[in-house]
Amino acid sequence: MKNSRTLIVANWKMNMNVSQSSILLHRLHERIRIRREIELVLAPSMLALQPLSMQIDRRKFRLCAQNAYFVDEGPFTGEVSFSMLQDLVHYCIVGHSDRRHKFGESLEVVRDKVAASVRNDIMPILCVGETAQERKAKETNQVLHDQVVTALSNLTSSDIPNIVIAYEPVWALSAGSDYAHHEIATPEIIANAIKVIRHNIAELYGKKAAADVRVLYGGSASSTTARGILETEGVDGLLVGGASLNYQEFSGIIDAAYRMQTSSEVNNG
Ligand code: PEP
Repeated sequence: MKNSRTLIVANWKMNMNVSQSSILLHRLHERIRIRREIELVLAPSMLALQPLSMQIDRRKFRLCAQNAYFVDEGPFTGEVSFSMLQDLVHYCIVGHSDRRHKFGESLEVVRDKVAASVRNDIMPILCVGETAQERKAKETNQVLHDQVVTALSNLTSSDIPNIVIAYEPVWALSAGSDYAHHEIATPEIIANAIKVIRHNIAELYGKKAAADVRVLYGGSASSTTARGILETEGVDGLLVGGASLNYQEFSGIIDAAYRMQTSSEVNNG
């Protein structure tokens, strides 16, 4: 059975300055209603977090950082720590493939960031997923195993309800504006990968923890594909990149999630 609230996270990545971010939030406020069935999370740039925290309607949205450093304070020029973000965000994206592949974040750095996030009461959204090359070489299950097992290895079972996993196959991620034409993973690929992820968590922390942990899909999701993805076995929500930069498209995704939630409530009596 699926977790009750659908979680939709907007990853704005390195897009929009503070005033553009504020305009997009203003448009989303106008367009989006409070829905108890859906939890909405916005991940703007680090620079926009503070001003948006003053503007945000907390009944509608929560804030998320896109990255942070695992040491709480000290001589780490240019970094921002999880402890500095504690009062500002509920979530932080950790281990995004941009960070793993473009900034060389190792499995161990991701593990330390997950632990620092949990230690500072920020829910990490741990991104895992294989590259096109790894998929072609049939290494997907091994990659997912290594990423999940290493990232969670410094936690205890009581921490698992406080984490979110996002399955993001790297080959399915858009470059931003091409999300509508980009290849997305099939329901079968998504369901299988999520099964592997939950199996790895079960091995570490037991079946209940594995069944309860929220798992998102990310990769070129749009208002037209959202519902099909959300209906896929094991999917509890979406991590949305390119499509979240357009308020009409993003609200279309939320509408699709709401329609799915309400029709499944009707079907379940
Ligand atoms: C992402 O990079 O986290 C993402 C989901 O991007 P997109 O939706 O643009 O593929």
